[in-house]
Amino acid sequence: MRLLLVEDHAPLAEALAGGLRRAGFAVDVAGTVGEARSAASAAPYDLAVLDLGLPDGSGLDLLREWRGRGGPPAVLLTARGALGDRVAGLDEGADDYVVKPVEMPELVARCRAVLRRPGQRAGRLLEAGHLVLDTTLREATCRGVPLALGRRETGVLEALLRRRNRVVPRSVLLEQLYDRDADVGLNAVDAAVSRLRRALEASDAGVELRTVRGVGWMLTGGAE
Ligand code: CA
Repeated sequence: MRLLLVEDHAPLAEALAGGLRRAGFAVDVAGTVGEARSAASAAPYDLAVLDLGLPDGSGLDLLREWRGRGGPPAVLLTARGALGDRVAGLDEGADDYVVKPVEMPELVARCRAVLRRPGQRAGRLLEAGHLVLDTTLREATCRGVPLALGRRETGVLEALLRRRNRVVPRSVLLEQLYDRDADVGLNAVDAAVSRLRRALEASDAGVELRTVRGVGWMLTGGAE
């Protein structure tokens, strides 16, 4: 899940980005309306978390632009008591809001709830064979038994399940797993794929993680 965090107060942005990453999101941070505009036009985001008071304008301007042309769903960060902001934001098509000071568990819960809504790109459960990934809880199970997967392996599995029976290039996995500033290379993707493969082989999932040499990987198996 790729998320764009738009917040100009750097320490807050850093704290929120950290919490959202721990919750399993790949997070890019923008500090201005301009940065957010160019980030959103360069990459598709599943969700935006949007501060309203930005140095070069209002988060409402972004909402207005995005609503017209299929921008990401948005959770607003609003000041306590700023009822007018909240109403204006919801009027402009925001999906939800969280009042500052932000409680991390609440923000994560609201982000997940927005992503679960019908019509959002993210369906909650992804399945193949006996394998089920709950993309909200970030938990994979095989015949109801949890698979012990780390955060990266879970991210790899999600990307493979979303493109089941199709080749997923390494570069796409890298992009899905990490935000643009993360200092990780393709080796980290290879390592996560290896760990995921071992976990799948040790389970009774009835799926196969195939290597397509020089390109990437493909998850096959299980009825449609
Ligand atoms: Ca602000």
